Amino acid sequence: MNILVINTGSSSLKYQLIDAKNENVLAKGLCDRIGIEEPLLKHCKAGMDPVLIKCAMKDHEIALNEVIKALTDKKYGVIKDMSEISAVGHRVVHGGEEFHDSVIIDDRVMQTIKNCIELAPLHNPPNITGIEACKKVMPDKPMVAVFDTAFHQTMPRYAYLYALPYEIYEKYGVRKYGFHGTSHKYVSQRAAAMLGRPLSELKLVTCHLGNGASICAVKYGRSVDTSMGFTPLAGLAMGTRSGTIDPAVISYLMDKEKMNIREVNDYLNKKSGVLGISGVSSDFRDIQAAAETGNDRAKLAIEIFCYRVRKYIGEYAAVLGGMDAVVFTAGIGENNVMIREKTMKGLEFLGAVIDPVKNEAKGVETDISADNATIRTLIIPTNEELAIARETLVLISK
Ligand code: AMP
Repeated sequence: MNILVINTGSSSLKYQLIDAKNENVLAKGLCDRIGIEEPLLKHCKAGMDPVLIKCAMKDHEIALNEVIKALTDKKYGVIKDMSEISAVGHRVVHGGEEFHDSVIIDDRVMQTIKNCIELAPLHNPPNITGIEACKKVMPDKPMVAVFDTAFHQTMPRYAYLYALPYEIYEKYGVRKYGFHGTSHKYVSQRAAAMLGRPLSELKLVTCHLGNGASICAVKYGRSVDTSMGFTPLAGLAMGTRSGTIDPAVISYLMDKEKMNIREVNDYLNKKSGVLGISGVSSDFRDIQAAAETGNDRAKLAIEIFCYRVRKYIGEYAAVLGGMDAVVFTAGIGENNVMIREKTMKGLEFLGAVIDPVKNEAKGVETDISADNATIRTLIIPTNEELAIARETLVLISK
């Protein structure tokens, strides 16, 4: 049984075809620049070099047809025809308070996802476009929506409410939602497997550190707090996002820099974070290279990033009343040795001590704890596509 996993952005469509039985990725790829000049499909059959296919992709429906063509191609395809796709799993960024779990998509679900557009105006519309394109191209396939917010719906009220007049929450749903839920859930499950203990007994702090970054306190398998908020702008300093700032900075900036609200929003989302601090790049590989040549602002960006991650780990240790493990995942968490080392320095008092040699690991599940550690520190590569395929399989098998 093959599950097609779809993740759509405004001008992109990422896909993976996963054999649900053995969880092997048969093929994956990315349609880039949909609706703009020089669209490109990069398709990769397992075990083969990627092929680059130039094709006109005016919209997501055409892009999806190109994906099906690639998947069924004689040379680099992996299935005979569409009948070999059993279901489609869609990543949907925002499920509001409506969705505590993944769901089979029907008309009512579709309407509810549309109602969430207000909460995620940049993210939900392309997700909806992706679902609608699939409905047209594969009308009989069952489809499942897997939400980035769903895992965090278990947060208690005192954790998710802002100290604003309560009516703002009631009228507009202004509260903390949290994101990266599929990843936090997946790595929590893997952590339990690595530790050989039931997830229902574990207190974990999961650190999803990529270009977008968030931390989650996971108590007995449930999210009880997370660093992102009403939008993915809150919390850690990220590639280009500021993370949490004093909200009064916004009106001050508008006044001093003569910015309107759209411009400030852009400033905080696209020009801040480690890019804004370093002035070098949003990518930690570039920032690290600059720091090594003595660039002071690049060094500062690294310090700020690690300091915030460390603070959240300490905060969530308090939220959880102790912890069994810290988990590092996503691009930086899985690969950046220096960031992990700098972040964990100072947390030894909690029993979290890492072994510098084990910490050299990159992109593989590894326990990097020192022999004298009482709290485990784990590297666990995230796999949101596999998590989506699993959720899809569970729902369509019901
Ligand atoms: P993501 O958003 O999860 O793709 O993560 C992007 C961040 O991860 C960037 O800041 C990269 O510097 C970092 N990253 C991704 N892959 C690697 C790698 N192989 N080695 C070091 N850093 C990496």
